[in-house]
Amino acid sequence: MVEYRKKDEERSESMKAKKTKRERSPQMQQVSAGLRDVLGMTQWRKEHPKATWVEIEAAVDERINQLRAQLIQDVVQMGESEEWSEIPQEERPRCVTCGKLLWARGEQTRWVPTNGGEAVKLTRTYGTCPTCGVGFFPPG
Ligand SMILES: [Zn+2]
Repeated sequence: MVEYRKKDEERSESMKAKKTKRERSPQMQQVSAGLRDVLGMTQWRKEHPKATWVEIEAAVDERINQLRAQLIQDVVQMGESEEWSEIPQEERPRCVTCGKLLWARGEQTRWVPTNGGEAVKLTRTYGTCPTCGVGFFPPG
C-alpha cells in the first residue's frame, strides 16, 4: 500500500517536471541556510519585515541570478584552466577546416548572456591555425 502510493507520487512528479514539489535534499537546505546569510537575505528580511511574497521572490532572484552566473562561469572554466601544452596532443584543439593543431595565441574574454539577465565572463585560450591562419575559439 505504502509502496504503491510512493510510486504514484513519483509518477505525478515526473509529469509536471517544471513545478516539482519534491522535498529539497538536506544538502540544498544547508546551502540555502548558508546563502541566506552570505547573500544578505537574513539582513534584508530584518530590514523588510513586511515584505510581500513578490518582493521576497524578486530580492532572492536578483541575488540568485548573480550567483547563478558566477557558478556557471566557475564550472565552465573548471575544465579550461589547463595549458594547451599540458594536454595530450591528440586532445588538443584542432582547426575545423584542415585539422591541424591550433597554436595558442593568448587569452580572450567574452561575455555570454544567461537566463536570469546576468552575463557570464568567459576567458578562453584563443588559437590560430598555422596553415589557414584563421583564428578562433575552440568549440566546447
Ligand atoms: Zn587550418
